[in-house]
Amino acid sequence: MAQLRIDIDLCTGCGVCVPSCPLGALSLNDGVAVASEACNDCAACISVCPVEALSIPIEHRLQESKLTDYRDVWVFCEVEEGKIVHVTPELLGKGRELADTLGCRLCTVLLGHEVENLASQLFHYGADCVYLVEDERLSPYRTVPYMEAFVSLVKKYKPEIILIGATICGRDLAGAVATRLETGLTADCTELRIADDGKSLLQTRPAFGGNIMAQILCEKHRPQMATVRPKVMEMPELDASRSGEMVRESLVLGDARILTEVLEYIKDELESVNLVDADIIVSGGRGLGKPENFSVVRELAKVLGGVVGSSRAAVDAGWIPYPHQVGQTGKTVRPKLYIACGISGAIQHLAGMRTSDVIIAINKDPEAPIFKVATYGIVGDVLQVVPKLTERLKRL
Ligand SMILES: Cc1cc2nc3c(=O)[nH]c(=O)nc-3n(C[C@H](O)[C@H](O)[C@H](O)COP(=O)(O)OP(=O)(O)OC[C@H]3O[C@@H](n4cnc5c(N)ncnc54)[C@H](O)[C@@H]3O)c2cc1C
Repeated sequence: MAQLRIDIDLCTGCGVCVPSCPLGALSLNDGVAVASEACNDCAACISVCPVEALSIPIEHRLQESKLTDYRDVWVFCEVEEGKIVHVTPELLGKGRELADTLGCRLCTVLLGHEVENLASQLFHYGADCVYLVEDERLSPYRTVPYMEAFVSLVKKYKPEIILIGATICGRDLAGAVATRLETGLTADCTELRIADDGKSLLQTRPAFGGNIMAQILCEKHRPQMATVRPKVMEMPELDASRSGEMVRESLVLGDARILTEVLEYIKDELESVNLVDADIIVSGGRGLGKPENFSVVRELAKVLGGVVGSSRAAVDAGWIPYPHQVGQTGKTVRPKLYIACGISGAIQHLAGMRTSDVIIAINKDPEAPIFKVATYGIVGDVLQVVPKLTERLKRL
């Protein structure tokens, strides 16, 4: 229950607080402010009240005084078909860096059924400790049992930072856990580091359509939570000599709380394009002119043993389905070779591919922004250059 106090003797009914509430929980009744059940004590209204009629008793203020109780960096280990999902070691690499800066441990949360055998890999990728919860109800993934298991670990061991992969399951879990813990969550971070104060997590992510990079701090709540897309962070080196501590916990949850049952998995055929793990991607954009011209991109990809990507403009035009889209609202990729054919290099496209090892851009406009990030640039007509390149590679 919310603890916001409204002193009706002080309140003048000026209404300044009403629009300040992000939840629309404040209104005026009989000339004084009243808060509905939607109030979550966020305190946004307190500072705007000109007569100091609003307050939250000291014992209920957000956990500021307890921030120091939280310690360690945690990474959620995502498991799919018995294997650790690629984003997990990527996050362990970044988590290691953060933990070393803070001088704390890097821990992993491993949830599932018969998954203990995976723990050694987590140590090899840098974890000092694995919190293991095994239970039949944790396989396959469902929100409620995962959230309950995760939240009870957080309440018991109090991590300072939690990193979760921005995958379908990770996004679902992160939102549920953050809501339950009443803490902040920054989605799709592209950069994470410890701020200059030496303790807060500085979370960077694109905002306003990718036009600015927002830097976000979670100042008053713990843990600080962030999701990161696959391939955004670098894969760390594996050190098979490392090991660590294993902490076993159990899932305490009545079956009646679990409202969903997984009946069947049906693979989405469109999602069979594995852009994220591809070493070579050949992408086409609006510069191809029409959908049929995607054939030149497909041919080149085939000769190179790569997969076909695209810009959003090509997807929006209906030339190629969405699973091929690279960029801020598509996939983030980090191949060894990325060939951009007739793609201008808008910031939202670059957000998804700029960390590729080698970028080759083919564009008829020498001023196209894609050339700024390209390792090699070919100024020319994509419909002439790409078939010639394909032909040459075939001969090689
Ligand atoms: C919120 C938001 C999210 C977005 N997310 C994404 C995203 O995830 N991915 C993404 O790609 N975009 C995204 N966009 C769209 C992005 O801003 C660009 O509009 C888009 O990337 C442009 O695609 P394009 O480069 O194919 O087309 P254009 O910008 O139209 O560029 C076409 C290029 O082809 C060149 N060209 C034309 N003809 C030829 C030819 N014959 N030979 C060689 N070159 C030729 C032109 O010189 C030009 O540089 C997003 C936008 C917003 C607002």
